[in-house]
Amino acid sequence: MNKIIYSLTLFFLLSLVFMNSHAVTEKVLYSVRIEAKNKFERTKIMNLGIALDGIGENYVESVITKEELHNLKEISSPFEILNLDSFTLDFPPKDARYHNYQELIDALKGLHEEYPELTELKSIGKSVNGTDIWVLKIGSQEENLKPGIVFMGGHHAREHLSIEVPFYLATYLLSQSQTPKIKTLLESRDIWIIPVVNPDGTEYDIENGKYKLWRKNRTHNEDGSFGVDLNRNYGYQWGREGSSQFPRSETYRGPEAFSEPETRTIRDFVISHPHIKVLISYHTFSELILYPWGYTYDSIQNQTDLSIFENMAGAMSKMTGYKAEQSSDLYLVSGDTTDWAYGERGIYAFTFELSPKSMGGGGFYPGDIIDKTVDDNIEAALYAIERAGHVGLSLYLH
Ligand SMILES: [Zn+2]
Repeated sequence: MNKIIYSLTLFFLLSLVFMNSHAVTEKVLYSVRIEAKNKFERTKIMNLGIALDGIGENYVESVITKEELHNLKEISSPFEILNLDSFTLDFPPKDARYHNYQELIDALKGLHEEYPELTELKSIGKSVNGTDIWVLKIGSQEENLKPGIVFMGGHHAREHLSIEVPFYLATYLLSQSQTPKIKTLLESRDIWIIPVVNPDGTEYDIENGKYKLWRKNRTHNEDGSFGVDLNRNYGYQWGREGSSQFPRSETYRGPEAFSEPETRTIRDFVISHPHIKVLISYHTFSELILYPWGYTYDSIQNQTDLSIFENMAGAMSKMTGYKAEQSSDLYLVSGDTTDWAYGERGIYAFTFELSPKSMGGGGFYPGDIIDKTVDDNIEAALYAIERAGHVGLSLYLH
């Protein structure tokens, strides 16, 4: 079987070099499905420095460079190359509903103008290229004394759907603000929405009307390459397994913890709002709900916290249909948002891997599944907002 896959691989290697108008970047990229049966095998692959994008029962999927393809051959896991041409690489009219940066900011401003009493819109920092990172606060505008929750999207550039979900959550909350349920929530919670943490990367990914499958931010690294993986750059147990020290890697963690202005912006925002109890960081894809730890296979030691995480993830799993599990049950990852938010700040922090379920469903570019994905996630978001008022400050705080 391995031999068959290998010869198939060689065949595809020759035929899949992108020389046509569908070239995704100046680099040649391969979409691969790699056999991996458990978290240890997945971590072994992750430790090659490639980003694992889709997770199946017995395999993982990734988009990798030629160099990474060579590294992959060094380990024993069988793999096959999928046909990247089956994905939409152009920025097609059917994806017109996705917001580019300017459209997103205009839409946020529109919401603020329509609901001035219920919203506050401000820039909380700048990206490496000097682009503003915006937060929309929803709730009655008294001082920040109410239990808080923050929703974030767009850490990873190509995960455009992760920007739409928090944006449309804001739209939903405001359009429903007179219904008894939402009115109560808005009066009793502070809700912050940061739809795009990585605006440079996101814009780069759609520049020139072509998707580039870009993941990282746009830092110019010392070796001439671009980008740090923002979800490996947070400063809790930074630099361990599940992140790469090599700048060219898709999971490059940066030269030090919080080396990137984008992660520093989120760090400073969270620290300056100590009433934040719950954090949801949207990513795509795989339909999963993940909670700490990512950096170790060990579970959270504090039993009260562990049961809160398990209960919340379990409840949200039922609402979304997504699978809930500890982050490292997938594979080890260090320096991510949720480990830091919980480890340093005692916040109940979850990573949502939104739709689709796999590369086969469109991977990072699934087309317009915005409404369905938003619908799938509203109830869980409302639940998390509600729960933010009932979870005490974590005993883990130190
Ligand atoms: Zn992501």
